[in-house]
Amino acid sequence: MHLDGSCQCGAVQFSLESDSPYPYMHCHCSICRKTGGSGGYGINLGGDAHTLRVAGQQHVAHFHAVIREPGQRPKRSKGYRHFCKLCGSPLWMWDPRWPDLVHPYAGAIDTPLPRPPDVVEAGLDYVAPWVDVPRGKGHRHVGTWPHESLREWHARHDLLK
Ligand SMILES: [Zn+2]
Ligand SMILES: [Zn+2]
Repeated sequence: MHLDGSCQCGAVQFSLESDSPYPYMHCHCSICRKTGGSGGYGINLGGDAHTLRVAGQQHVAHFHAVIREPGQRPKRSKGYRHFCKLCGSPLWMWDPRWPDLVHPYAGAIDTPLPRPPDVVEAGLDYVAPWVDVPRGKGHRHVGTWPHESLREWHARHDLLK
């Protein structure tokens, strides 16, 4: 599926081809909450890094999040989290360990995305107490992250494009 995206101020426009465009995973971890400025969700999609086209690249910056886990020293994430340095909108994540993949933030995508048939509420060990986490049928609760990858979830639902 072809996806078009942009930042809030419009300085950055981008597009890519995505084989896993269903925004099914709501991540409530503190990295997504703080860097996305949201009450818990950074939703990532799966796309082909070689198809990523960017206009306004000079306005794009990135950072490496700090991962804090109980009993472990804080460590720097290997992922490059890209954002617009003029307005701060999160744009996409890229990780050199999986260089063929790019993960745009669903919130930055302007193309209408398909609604997922079920949703994983992930990172609940780190959820803020004020977040009203959706529950009930179609919402699976996970303390950290599911073992199933983005691709595997899409394949299991026969939704890989
Ligand atoms: Zn911007
Ligand atoms: Zn997260």
